Amino acid sequence: MRTVYLDNNATTAVADEVAEQMRPFFCREYGNPSSIHTFGGKIAKLLDKSREQVAQLIGADPSEIVFTSCGTESDSTAIRGTLESYPNKRHIITTRVEHPAVRGLCQHLSQQSYRLTELSVDREGLLNLDELKDALDSETAIVSIMWANNETGVLFPMDKIARIVKSAGAVFHTDAVQAAGKETIDVSKLPVDLLSISGHKLHAPKGIGVLYVRRGTRLTPLLVGGHQERGRRAGTENVPYIIGLGKACELARQEFDQERLRIRKLRDRLEEALLSTCPGARLNGHKTNRLVNTTSISFEYVEGEAILLLLDRLGICASSGSACTSGSLEPSHVLRAMGVPFTSAHGSIRFSLSRYNSDQDIDYVIEHTPEIIDKLREISPFGREKQRPS
Ligand code: PLP
Repeated sequence: MRTVYLDNNATTAVADEVAEQMRPFFCREYGNPSSIHTFGGKIAKLLDKSREQVAQLIGADPSEIVFTSCGTESDSTAIRGTLESYPNKRHIITTRVEHPAVRGLCQHLSQQSYRLTELSVDREGLLNLDELKDALDSETAIVSIMWANNETGVLFPMDKIARIVKSAGAVFHTDAVQAAGKETIDVSKLPVDLLSISGHKLHAPKGIGVLYVRRGTRLTPLLVGGHQERGRRAGTENVPYIIGLGKACELARQEFDQERLRIRKLRDRLEEALLSTCPGARLNGHKTNRLVNTTSISFEYVEGEAILLLLDRLGICASSGSACTSGSLEPSHVLRAMGVPFTSAHGSIRFSLSRYNSDQDIDYVIEHTPEIIDKLREISPFGREKQRPS
């Protein structure tokens, strides 16, 4: 059976070019970059090269790149590290649609005497910037707002947000885990202080991340101990993965325009076909202000999990907008925040594409999804009800 992998916002394949670059650093070139001897010392130079490759992808200076273990660690370092640096400021602003790496942490902190404001979004997943302006006050330590939403792909207006936050004197962090490699990021023009990246979303392995820290930003490290990463993140560097991430960033930069165009075309073809052939299908999130690789579609009156199961039997990998909470299926917090009706939110599926998807993949999904939806609607009491003439 063929596999059609359309779950690239969950994780991506490690690119062959990346794996190739990493290989020597497991068994042959295994030196510690902090060692004085040449065997280890020469690794430090290679880490510098990776730092440069990452910096180039986002318009940063290499000295502003801190390697971490994942996107979650980058987010935690940004938020906890800022709060610790500004002990008198006890207010955090974020949004209701953040990834759990930010939202879960902020909610946890709100139970520890921090004040938390979660900004709302509208039906298309967009923010009201007046709400942000109203929420900022002299106690606000940090504003953490994602660049691109992992479920809907909706993009937030980073430039406007960053300027509002900076003019209020707070630290601005963005979780750019889904945006890096897919959207143009240029921190030399954008007044962002801290920005998170995760390797496994852009064809590097799982377990490597980056926190961009603008020069001069006050940040207490999360991991304290050795002097690695200029004292900003203790722990021996994950050399093969850092080298892989550097290569992945270089690839993303080289292929950027051509792959964005190609992937957008594939995504649009898939989306248009499903919306037009499946009755009761609707798009979640803004039509154009979105990552080019992502589409979230709700199929009314069917269970997302059931759709996923039948897609899976055909080798099609996607994900649903529901999460299993205390034994029952709950629509995702993102779709709930957008006010997507329960009957739609339950039947939502996210398809997310990458450089490895082809026209044949999309043909296959277009061919099989409508029959899956028809079949499930047939057996759904609500779906049958809905199809009856009134
Ligand atoms: N932030 C966003 C927007 C994500 O989509 C993810 C992963 O899905 C993360 C953070 C967490 O990244 P990691 O899996 O590297 O911890």
